[in-house]
Amino acid sequence: MSDFTHLAISASDESKGLVHKMREIVDGKVEMETNSNKDLLNISIGDPTFFGNLPVHQVMKEAVKEVVDSDNFNGYGPAHGLLCARQAVAKHYTTPEAPLTEDDIIITCGCAGAIEYCFTVFGNSGQNILVPSPIHPLDCCVTASRGLKLKFYQLLPDRQWEADVDQMDQLIDTDTVAIVVVNPSNPCGSVYSKQHLLDILAVAEKHSLPIIADEIYSDLVFKGQHSYPIATLSKNVPILSCGGMAKKYLVPGWRVGWILIHDRHDRFKKEVVPSLIKVSRKSLGITTLVQAALPKILDTVPKSYYENIMSLVEANANIAYGELSVVGGLTPVMPSGALYMMVGVELSKFPHINTTVEFMKKLMSEESVYIMCGECFRFPGFIRLVLLIPNDKMKLACDRIREFCGRHYVECI
Ligand SMILES: *Cc1c(COP(=O)(O)O)cnc(C)c1O
Repeated sequence: MSDFTHLAISASDESKGLVHKMREIVDGKVEMETNSNKDLLNISIGDPTFFGNLPVHQVMKEAVKEVVDSDNFNGYGPAHGLLCARQAVAKHYTTPEAPLTEDDIIITCGCAGAIEYCFTVFGNSGQNILVPSPIHPLDCCVTASRGLKLKFYQLLPDRQWEADVDQMDQLIDTDTVAIVVVNPSNPCGSVYSKQHLLDILAVAEKHSLPIIADEIYSDLVFKGQHSYPIATLSKNVPILSCGGMAKKYLVPGWRVGWILIHDRHDRFKKEVVPSLIKVSRKSLGITTLVQAALPKILDTVPKSYYENIMSLVEANANIAYGELSVVGGLTPVMPSGALYMMVGVELSKFPHINTTVEFMKKLMSEESVYIMCGECFRFPGFIRLVLLIPNDKMKLACDRIREFCGRHYVECI
């Protein structure tokens, strides 16, 4: 008998095609060393639990405990979500302009699950979806495995990261099946004006395309800003809005997200909605324990809970913008919401640093400051800062970035 014990078992092309750039770096595939004389300042990942400075609301803990103790939610629920959870989400997000009932809600495994469902129900191999650049790496991950192509429309840093709407219009062809809009934006921290959203909707309407809106940061905006759910601004464009608890309720590990289905003229009714439900059956849905706690959580947790997060983020944005806008070679773009700030790096001023991946690694090895390189968002030449760290540490991180840049900066003659 031959000995096959040494032969590696092959994995499918589909699974091998799954690339999530950021997770590869965060999970340690890309080698990163710190300076052992300086404590690590991690402003690279958008996990609000990371520093322990943002405690989970008491009501949320009680709500889940009550569900566990009730013994009522240990069985299978409907794959697309418990009725009480779908009712709670519908009630929380319904508006007069974009009304929702429980039949318009699909509960998913985080917002990531919502995005996966949406990308699964639109298009076939060879067709394409329009997505923003820079882009959150999740989107690339799902489509590549299905043979869908991504077409990138540019977000413009000198216009507060507004989308290049003319380019969006020109990229659309007969194989385009949907447009993805991320607002407020990760990684940019931008919040679109009503007029800009109307301009995007006009493109979708002209080409009769649906929109997949990643709105996990809706409500997470700075004082005086307003984020419009895109569905509230259109009567004609069918929209799937993806959201979840992770960021607003500070519990990414709870893995609860949702799709709000804003059907228009019944264009999703015949195929898209039944398909979303079929896709949910692949995993028989998500844990019932957090779903059953949703009614209490969405009803009771006050606005001030996430307004507090946003005042921390806004203070950090002001610190980082103030500190970094005077550093030669750096161009921070002031955000208006979400948890992030993008900073342009003029690499020609740093002759010993060739890419923003190298910038990230060197900053880590010399200053123990961990930022995320733009390459993770398919946007080299920029770095992303996460603004959830305590304010004094943000200041310290910026001081170290300034010293680092000063050391490597060379003025061209
Ligand atoms: C964090 C994030 C997600 C993922 O959210 P989960 O609920 O943790 O799956 C999706 N989209 C964007 C833009 C995000 O920043």
